[in-house]
Amino acid sequence: MSEVLYRKWRPQRFSEVMGQEAITRTLRNSVASERGLAHAYLFSGPRGTGKTTLGRLLAKVANCGGPSDGEPCNLCVSCTAFNEGRAMDFIEQDAASHNSVDDIRQLRENVVLTPMAGGKKVYLLDEVHMLSKGAENALLKTLEEPPD
Ligand SMILES: [Zn+2]
Repeated sequence: MSEVLYRKWRPQRFSEVMGQEAITRTLRNSVASERGLAHAYLFSGPRGTGKTTLGRLLAKVANCGGPSDGEPCNLCVSCTAFNEGRAMDFIEQDAASHNSVDDIRQLRENVVLTPMAGGKKVYLLDEVHMLSKGAENALLKTLEEPPD
């Protein structure tokens, strides 16, 4: 039951995210711009303000076959996979419980592998502030020199 409600009320478009108009406008403009999205984003703010939701939406629109006005179409093969929780190139990791250098080393080994669905591979590191100092440094190298 809670799973059903969770899915039902999870925003599927940026315009459905409440109270974050400035950031959703910025992200939609980036999607629609010629430069496109950056290779990394850091969302910060209090609990419950939509950071993880925005990260998931960003991953979806980055792989959408036909985004419109910076929004995911929610109809293409990729959007459908995201909406059904089976997008192969979207890796959501809880950095609080995977906060060691070895965890990030594993991520760094996988990040260079070609996306399976031919789009963009997206890593969402939830609670990234919980990484150990060593893990932070290991992650920094990938952020500074991202693979294609
Ligand atoms: Zn789509």
